[in-house]
Amino acid sequence: MTVLKAVRGTRDLLPPETELWNRVEATTRRVFARYNFGEIRTPIFEDTSLFARGVGEETDIVSKEMYTWEDGERFDRDLLRDKWLRENIARFESWSLDRTAAPKADFEGQQMDGSWEFVIFASQTTSSQLLSLADEVREWNAASGRFRGIGRIVIPTISEAAVVTTPEGILIEKVSGAFHKSSQSLTLRPENTAGVVRAYIEHKLGESGLLQKLFYIGPQFRRERPQKGRYRQFWQIGAEVIGPPSAGSESPLRDAEVLEMLASFLDELNITGWTLVLNSVGSATDRPKYVAALREALAPVKDQMSPDNQRRAETNPLRVLDSKDPADEAIIATLPKIADFLDDESKAHFAAVLAALDACGVQYEINPRLVRGLDYYTRTTFEFTHDGLGAQNALLGGGRYDGLSEMLGGPKAPGIGFAMGLDRLILTLQSAEAEPAPVLADAFIAPLGEALNAPALALARDLRRQGMRIELGDGAFRIRKSFEIGNKLARNIILLGEDEHASGILTVKNFATGEQTKIPRGDLAQALRSSGN
Ligand code: ATP
Ligand code: MG
Repeated sequence: MTVLKAVRGTRDLLPPETELWNRVEATTRRVFARYNFGEIRTPIFEDTSLFARGVGEETDIVSKEMYTWEDGERFDRDLLRDKWLRENIARFESWSLDRTAAPKADFEGQQMDGSWEFVIFASQTTSSQLLSLADEVREWNAASGRFRGIGRIVIPTISEAAVVTTPEGILIEKVSGAFHKSSQSLTLRPENTAGVVRAYIEHKLGESGLLQKLFYIGPQFRRERPQKGRYRQFWQIGAEVIGPPSAGSESPLRDAEVLEMLASFLDELNITGWTLVLNSVGSATDRPKYVAALREALAPVKDQMSPDNQRRAETNPLRVLDSKDPADEAIIATLPKIADFLDDESKAHFAAVLAALDACGVQYEINPRLVRGLDYYTRTTFEFTHDGLGAQNALLGGGRYDGLSEMLGGPKAPGIGFAMGLDRLILTLQSAEAEPAPVLADAFIAPLGEALNAPALALARDLRRQGMRIELGDGAFRIRKSFEIGNKLARNIILLGEDEHASGILTVKNFATGEQTKIPRGDLAQALRSSGN
């Protein structure tokens, strides 16, 4: 039998490495709490259109990296048939083909990438007409007098009811409601900002009139080529500050505060050698002017660029700047800079962000080409990079998204946020420090004989309830084996024989010092605690 392995691009995190993950997550919670952020947990999968609208169709994420599937119990066939017949009976009556047979016709369908596949049931007379509709005849059941065929009818937009006319004049009408209820396109979240903003809108968080400060820690999914620092399931730590404009959500102070929090967070983890790279991509009104200029500048040179960038030059020229194709770099360097297209308000906003960063000593570099891979950014965009990471050098990215809530059908709710690659953060820490040592238990309890297993469990329970980390051996082990295992797993070994059980005085040996002591059961936890660390 072939042995199953974790899917390409996914991986298992095992102890003791998970200790490091837990430490980083604990630091996240501790530091973010000081800035008064609360935790949000959104679903791992969402309606595909959330990402199509929120992240943008032309981004790498949406155009090629998402895990998307058609979900649903398909549909309830009987319910659909009844509904369809009820709603269409009049149409059948008016058919010129075969009025009597037609009402017996029904169909079931299933969405198949942009087309609908129908299985048509009909009486014989009708079937001769329906035959031409079906690409392939699957089955003609003479006994039941029913025809079953499959026809594939491409309906351009699935959201509208469509009428399809066959050469013979048969009308098939798609009942859009019935189909829609049954099947939904879902996507494993490739990022979390769209989900947070959806939740903000759905729960009307803006109605409090206060800024919402939310952070998350969780897995994200992108179908990318796996390599160091790039996985198909990876983890992000992120935070968003979002709220109605009256709550000050547009203020440059918020941008600077978030950036300062990140700098403090990295300091607290002892991560040095990072660089904060900053830019402003302007407001929704600056953007079109710049995009037009870009388009114009790209027109004469785009043929010399990579196919991806040729396409982007047409569809979304801003994305060209985001390109990591080294061959295109020379051309990209000649393109106009967004800084020259910012209106006075955007310029002042950016200057205020920089002034606040200067005031608290957060160092940064300005990169006029930093536009970031997501469509929703406005004004401030940023990345923290780290040289220790090699090719995948971005530790985190983020920016302001003043129009995102409205793009998702919500109220005006400007915001700023970031997403940090937890996997990459861990890689940075691992290259800086030694592999964490396995955590040792405070004590290994060795019952001396199987008769003492039950009392040993009771002792373990008492100590664990007092906060001790306890490994429980087994009375079936010879004493030498208990010592060997205990030495690997714990700092102390507690021997529980008949005498100890009867007297309540236990023999404890410390593996590091070799010291052996007799300790009354009631004092054990205290003794273990003071022998630790
Ligand atoms: P990159 O340029 O590295 O592909 P990105 O612009 O696609 O990054 P964002 O969408 O901004 O990344 O995500 C924020 C952070 O999440 C990144 O800076 C990175 O640390 C991390 N990240 C993104 N994709 C992956 C991945 N496939 N595996 C591991 N971490 C990732
Ligand atoms: Mg990417």
